[in-house]
Amino acid sequence: MTNVLLKGIEKRFGSVEVIRGVDLQIDDGEFVVFVGPSGCGKSTLLRLISGLEHISAGDILIGDRLVNEVQPAQRGVAMVFQSYALYPHLTVRDNMGFGLKVRKMPADERQKRVAEAAATLKLDTLLDRYPRELSGGQRQRVAIGRAIVGHPDVFLFDEPLSNLDAELRVHMRSEIAALHKRLATTMIYVTHDQIEAMTLADKIVVLRDGRVEQVGSPRTLYENPANIFVAQFIGSPK
Ligand code: ADP
Ligand code: MG
Repeated sequence: MTNVLLKGIEKRFGSVEVIRGVDLQIDDGEFVVFVGPSGCGKSTLLRLISGLEHISAGDILIGDRLVNEVQPAQRGVAMVFQSYALYPHLTVRDNMGFGLKVRKMPADERQKRVAEAAATLKLDTLLDRYPRELSGGQRQRVAIGRAIVGHPDVFLFDEPLSNLDAELRVHMRSEIAALHKRLATTMIYVTHDQIEAMTLADKIVVLRDGRVEQVGSPRTLYENPANIFVAQFIGSPK
């Protein structure tokens, strides 16, 4: 059971309030997409959930466990970034296994997890290559593979496809949808691409200036946007 609950979340950097009281319920296995203009706090919210940043006020619960003071590695979440952040001097296999090695997982279990993730992401034939020998889409797949091997309860994606060209983006979008279907893991996904949001999300959260403007299914937001701001963001005709 890995629901995620945000209660009265606030985040200040110095005197600047970036997240201004966010309440949100994310259900087990749900695919939730955060959208909103640049600077509205999408990445910050993900970093607060992952523990890379500390909240200024509120409570974060992951799977009914209060994690405010829990270290990132112990939260059961894995984050995939736009910039891949692969180690250039390590092969695909070692990039994917690196986090498990740090966690001191025995080599045989590690190899099993990497093989399993490679099969899921069709990376089997690329395991001995280095990042520079891969295409953008393949690199992003390795970055996702690195998240998968940890068997996280929650995946956090921060604009994972925005560095890819349009065609590859469409392809990777359906791969991520397939991955969600297969793993049935809770996923929280940030994008500024409306089509990505509309096709992937069970639930879309529209953020504006560190607040939640509206939450709903793609259809609800499209048919009943709360205001012009949401309508424009979702691309609804209203
Ligand atoms: P988004 O991902 O929606 O584009 P961010 O979450 O990255 O927005 O940023 C939200 C706001 O917080 C921005 O105004 C940004 O400048 C500010 N911000 C983010 N991280 C920091 C930081 N470490 N220190 C100060 N300000 C920050
Ligand atoms: Mg961002």
